[in-house]
Amino acid sequence: MIADRMKKIDSSGIRKVFDLAAKIENPINLSIGQPDFDIPDEIKEEAIKAIREGFNRYTLTGGIPELIEALKNKIEKDKNARFEEVFITSGVSGGLVLAILATVNPGDEVIIPDPYFVMYKHLVNLVGGKPVFLDTYPEFKIDPKKLKKLINKKTKIILLNSPANPTGKVFSKEELNEILNVLDGKILVISDEIYDEFVYEPGFTSVASLYPNTLLLGGFSKTYAMTGWRIGYAAGPSIIIKEMIKLQQYTFVCAPSFAQKAALKALSYDMSKYIEAYKKKANMVYEGLKDKFNLIKPQGAFYCFPSPKKKTDISKFVEEAINNKVLIIPGNVFSEKNLCFRLSFAAKDETIQKGIEILNNIIEKF
Ligand code: PMP
Repeated sequence: MIADRMKKIDSSGIRKVFDLAAKIENPINLSIGQPDFDIPDEIKEEAIKAIREGFNRYTLTGGIPELIEALKNKIEKDKNARFEEVFITSGVSGGLVLAILATVNPGDEVIIPDPYFVMYKHLVNLVGGKPVFLDTYPEFKIDPKKLKKLINKKTKIILLNSPANPTGKVFSKEELNEILNVLDGKILVISDEIYDEFVYEPGFTSVASLYPNTLLLGGFSKTYAMTGWRIGYAAGPSIIIKEMIKLQQYTFVCAPSFAQKAALKALSYDMSKYIEAYKKKANMVYEGLKDKFNLIKPQGAFYCFPSPKKKTDISKFVEEAINNKVLIIPGNVFSEKNLCFRLSFAAKDETIQKGIEILNNIIEKF
């Protein structure tokens, strides 16, 4: 009954954590991939207004023109890149599905820096492509020499994600230039910049400002806490965007109508106080864990990816943490290796503090 391609998708790692977590009362939840704040009221009101006014039908496949225009300007201003072709997707997830379907042939190789966002390898596998993992441990930098060795005639795409889930790594302009110098211009960079507002050190550089063959994916889910509203965007070379829009017509149809209106409002909303609070949280987890764990200080997003300084079985450590009510996710959900765990600091400061204390106690006794 079930298609063979489904065998290539496995969600058992993360499910195990969620199954364990479901049994716990009042967990200290550091496993969540979305902000702990809610959508600001002004943006919610805009969505409600749109619904009340009857803006409830299909929009154009590519999205409402005023949002597209506003995004073109925002990308130019914030990312120093001008795109003629931008359209609205059903979240970055929707953009990723369309991008991979539109570009990857069976047998094509897609380079994925490891650790990676869970969806990437499964999407590549689904279409018969080959995920090629580029080991970035322990500092989660891309070594241009290692990258060069992985490139061959079948290499079609490299998927970059900065700021990164699950590591909190942000590539500097110099690091990006080193990476991009190895590519010959034909290799497409899919740049997932969903965490672009969550940057804790000055000077975020978008791949799009440095490399013309970039398909930029961006979103609203994280910045404005609208994960359930399913809004994102794709910007890139016109031949790719045209194919993606064609596919959107027969899959997602359009992004949610009212949420597009609210997204337009959101673009002019100042989120800096929220980001400032997350910068403090990043600091808190780093300072709290650095004595007993190896970790890079999160430069962006809202995750860190620590590994215990003493030799530890990560699966057992995570199980013990969950038994002590601290929900974290084992590293092999995001990696071909199991050396680290992902901790999300999208939580209240007290929750983070409690979690840090318990994790330090557990590793002491391990
Ligand atoms: N990319 C990355 C790196 C993510 O962490 C997420 C959400 N966890 C997504 C894409 C998908 O986001 P959405 O579909 O809600 O825009």
